[in-house]
Amino acid sequence: MTAPSPAPQAGSRPLLNRRLAAFGTTIFAEMSALAVATGSLNLGQGFPDTDGPAEIAEAAARAIRTGHGNQYPPGPGVPELRTAIAAHQQRFYGLGYDPDTEVLVTAGATEAIAAALLALLEPGDEVIALEPYYDSYAACIAMAGATRVPVTLRPRDGAFRLDLDELRAAVTPRTRLLLLNTPHNPTGTVLTAAEMGAIAELAVERDLLVVTDEVYEHLVFAGAAHVPMASLPGMRDRTLTISSAGKTFSFTGWKVGWAVGSPALVSAVRSAKQFLTYVSSGPFQYAVAEALALPDAYYADFLAGMARKREILSAGLAAAGFEVYAPAGTYFITTDIAPLGETDGIDFCRRLPERCGLVAIPNAVFYDDKEAGRTHVRWAFCKKDEVLEEAAARLRRL
Ligand code: PMP
Ligand code: GLN
Repeated sequence: MTAPSPAPQAGSRPLLNRRLAAFGTTIFAEMSALAVATGSLNLGQGFPDTDGPAEIAEAAARAIRTGHGNQYPPGPGVPELRTAIAAHQQRFYGLGYDPDTEVLVTAGATEAIAAALLALLEPGDEVIALEPYYDSYAACIAMAGATRVPVTLRPRDGAFRLDLDELRAAVTPRTRLLLLNTPHNPTGTVLTAAEMGAIAELAVERDLLVVTDEVYEHLVFAGAAHVPMASLPGMRDRTLTISSAGKTFSFTGWKVGWAVGSPALVSAVRSAKQFLTYVSSGPFQYAVAEALALPDAYYADFLAGMARKREILSAGLAAAGFEVYAPAGTYFITTDIAPLGETDGIDFCRRLPERCGLVAIPNAVFYDDKEAGRTHVRWAFCKKDEVLEEAAARLRRL
């Protein structure tokens, strides 16, 4: 699972380069394949089992039928979508961006992250990332020839929290950027306004760039609030904000993402992006422009539905004996398997399909400090209520 792929050889030299050799196959592909192979319920990879709004799917079909985006769209993205992204930042956060110079459409948040790191880092730079970290961060930092410096979120009072002193201590003269993720995958932590403020102060004081992955911005449950890093004093022009339509509109396969920031940052990121995909998802870009403009009721209903699903799965996990870290955001729940007498999440997830027909993700793969995540396992609840109820029933077999 975390083992590197067998390295094919050409002569004496491994084919896969040193930068990538450690990464193997992503846990998401591996676990989804395991779910298919064993016929298990897949609470591993985070994708919904219900598609997004029918009128948005229809907008994509209409775009194809009417010849919108069937040929290469413009490099920065179609103007309709860039305008809609800027309007979204204004509507939800009061942040003004110029759609022509400060917005870049990408092939999902994944490409925005890759392009940002490839564009902004020099070999030898250090990047601070919250650990557990989303798996593509580590791979993209490595592809850029930079070094990741994890700062570990640790359980405190039932949630995973950041130690600000540890964060401050991690900054060195070589630190180039902070790679943030809030709401945070896999822990479900939403950084508080105070934490975000302290991070912003640190970035200003040490002159750091911040790349902030906010793909779960609309999945923040009652009691927490999403504070965009770019909204904090001194941060607008040193922050690249990344998000995506996949999670908010339940069309993860469309791969429409974006990055917004100052003209200088966006132009730097575009320099890398143009040589990765150049462009992607033409007709879907028009549909996502319509999705972003959906009324507040769409966003509220989406969140209410996920809040209900969170309750169903949390109750099932707690009844089965797991320690449940209630997520303040995202559609993932991290649990501790130690109360079940289990000591290793990777081993636990490997055996789970045969034990009870379920698939989950071992958080250990998102850590450098494997010990810190050894007994943590992540469950996705973006599934039909009846699937979650069946999962809860199966968990009782453990
Ligand atoms: N960042 C995080 C934290 C994620 O969980 C995901 C998965 N949605 C991504 C980035 C990738 O997003 P996309 O599917 O839009 O590439
Ligand atoms: N973001 C999704 C998750 O965390 C997976 C996306 C992917 O497969 N790369 O489950």
